[in-house]
Amino acid sequence: MQDITHDKPIKNEHRFLSVSDLKKVHLRGETEVPALRGVSCQFEKGSFNFILGPSGSGKSSLLYLLGALDDPTDGEIQFAGQSLSSFTEDQRDHYRREQVGFIFQSFNLLKTLNAVDNVLVPFLPQGINAELRDRAIDLLTQVGLGHRLDHHPHHLSGGEQQRVAIARALLKKPELVLADEPTGELDSESGAEVFRYLRKLHDEQQTTVIVVTHDERYLENADRLLHLADGKLLREEIHSRAID
Ligand code: ADP
Ligand code: MG
Repeated sequence: MQDITHDKPIKNEHRFLSVSDLKKVHLRGETEVPALRGVSCQFEKGSFNFILGPSGSGKSSLLYLLGALDDPTDGEIQFAGQSLSSFTEDQRDHYRREQVGFIFQSFNLLKTLNAVDNVLVPFLPQGINAELRDRAIDLLTQVGLGHRLDHHPHHLSGGEQQRVAIARALLKKPELVLADEPTGELDSESGAEVFRYLRKLHDEQQTTVIVVTHDERYLENADRLLHLADGKLLREEIHSRAID
């Protein structure tokens, strides 16, 4: 791995997610809690990125802003050349629902639904057709759960539940997948499996993936690492596999 902070500028057309001097101050009661203190970085289309940093360094705050689940205090995020802050409410909804797939630490599966239906949940409002159901089954098979399609979450291990969540995030063919500590509740082996499948689907679908974690066990999956500390980007590294 080599440090390329000032090396190999990303070509403009590949800068589909661009962060400029991003700041976020949370309010805790009357107290201002700075979470991001001016972060600038770019994410190349189709790249697999890890954002690393200790607890409290601002990782989740950054991920939520990238997913338009929260608004910055200052600075800008551009997606495909358009500022997220210029989105109308409809565009924002579309971005969150159609263009971004979210994976959370706690899986967020519905207890009463089996694996297939949990994958289909984001599409319930618009109706499920046979093609979509087939795709859900295909994705579950691809994450090694072809034999668990009818199982409810309480009959699945943590790693299996997170793989259902991966299939759910990828069903809508998002351009961007955002994962917040996806292996935070898993043992090493299950965590490694989760990343193996996420990386496999990424390689097949060329989705851009940004994973936030303080867990350094699975870094070999990343094309690029961004180190965050105290709300600032310390440095970037790139894995040699990502260099042409
Ligand atoms: P990380 O994900 O790296 O642990 P966070 O982005 O969650 O970091 O938090 C960064 C800082 O912002 C921490 O000091 C945290 O306590 C604070 N913070 C995060 N979210 C909120 C919130 N909703 N309200 C108040 N403070 C928050
Ligand atoms: Mg966090």
